[in-house]
Amino acid sequence: MADSVIEVQGLHKQYGEVEAVRGIDLNIERGEVFALLGPNGAGKTTTVEILEGHRTRSAGQVRVLGFDPERNEVALKQRTGIVLQRTGLEPYLTVAETIDMFRGYYPQPLPLDEVLEVVGLKDQRTQRVRRLSGGQQRRLDVAVGLAGDPELLFLDEPTTGFDPTARRGAWTMIRNLRERGKTILLTTHYLDEAQELADRVAIMMNGEIVAEDTPSQLVSADSHTSIRFRIPEEAQLPGKFELQTDESGQVEIRTTNLTQDLHTLTSWAIAEEVSLTDLTVSRLSLEEVFLQLTDKFAEKRENSS
Ligand code: ATP
Repeated sequence: MADSVIEVQGLHKQYGEVEAVRGIDLNIERGEVFALLGPNGAGKTTTVEILEGHRTRSAGQVRVLGFDPERNEVALKQRTGIVLQRTGLEPYLTVAETIDMFRGYYPQPLPLDEVLEVVGLKDQRTQRVRRLSGGQQRRLDVAVGLAGDPELLFLDEPTTGFDPTARRGAWTMIRNLRERGKTILLTTHYLDEAQELADRVAIMMNGEIVAEDTPSQLVSADSHTSIRFRIPEEAQLPGKFELQTDESGQVEIRTTNLTQDLHTLTSWAIAEEVSLTDLTVSRLSLEEVFLQLTDKFAEKRENSS
């Protein structure tokens, strides 16, 4: 039997006239890293804050570790860790003092050395918070969220503003947490981050979940394959293709039937003696799938209004 940590059915949230969340279902299992993605205003923060117990819902069923988060029970708070986008930590405390202070709030905290190890701040244990770099401060935010040894961790945009090296470091940290069996609900605007870290991804738009799957399934759907090449300007491709040409002259065809379309294309090129320079076939990245979904969704809304 799967062990659900988060169960949501028919969740709605209304702010006056605005329907921010429109009846979503979610099921996140123990040990999963689950990423919630979506453009600005999609309803991610509202959803996550309802799960954290920081907002009330308008309708629907929500269970987090078997509890209703709206009831604000201490037992649930002790088993979850929340890392918000900004945490105001005391600048004159050291890293170890800060973590210890938070460990003191919990009945069974994680040992200090383990916290430092997981977040990669062993070398900074005696450093004052105000002397940490931005990336190190963000790790300390995560360390604070981990102090109580939570089963479930909410990570809100954990790497925003990081340089590429710091992001890789944070990814290692998240993988460490996953290896420890933590369940993680991650919100991020970085699609590569979700692709790299998440076991499953849900894409929210306008209060609804429009796609939900493993990152590899999302990008492997047939419609998500792209054929790219260059041809001389005067060459006329067979009319059946819908193409896009970028400013460098590279042609792209998005295909739902790779074998057939590649055959048509290469047969045409051979017959016409046209060379398909730099020919590549590739799966779209999660970012490209996301943008494709966003465009489709915007088009649908325009047509229905
Ligand atoms: P972002 O990526 O920008 O953080 P989001 O996906 O987290 O966006 P939400 O913050 O959940 O989106 O907002 C969803 C919708 O609800 C938006 O239209 C927003 O304007 C509206 N909204 C959010 N909070 C409130 C509030 N307290 N009162 C009224 N409307 C709100």
